[in-house]
Formats: sequence, C-alpha cells, structure tokens
Amino acid sequence: MSKSKNKTSTCYTLMECNSCKAIKKRKFTDGDIVFTTTENCSDCDGKMLVTKIFGLTMD
Ligand SMILES: [Zn+2]
Repeated sequence: MSKSKNKTSTCYTLMECNSCKAIKKRKFTDGDIVFTTTENCSDCDGKMLVTKIFGLTMD
C-alpha cells in the first residue's frame, strides 16, 4: 500500500430536494454550483438543489 503523508482535502456537495426536502451529501463533481439544481432526487421526482459546497481535510 502507498503511504499518504500529505493531507487530503476533499470537496463535498450538499444538496436539498426542493420537493421532499431530503438532504444528501456527495463528493463534489465538476460543474456543481451553489443554488443550482443538479440531479433528480432518488426519493421522489423532485430536483436536488445545491445548498452548500465545502471542503474537508483529512489526515
Ligand atoms: Zn425528493
């Protein structure tokens, strides 16, 4: 296995369904912009709205 001496920073995208209000978090992908709709909700037919994009740093 490879050694990881550098801290890894990962960006996450927080989304909220505008229909059932389900909140989901997934890894940030190119093109995610806050307050735009990205994909369909997996629980209903609503659209997921990006509410927050944030980064987490892990050791
Ligand atoms: Zn939904």
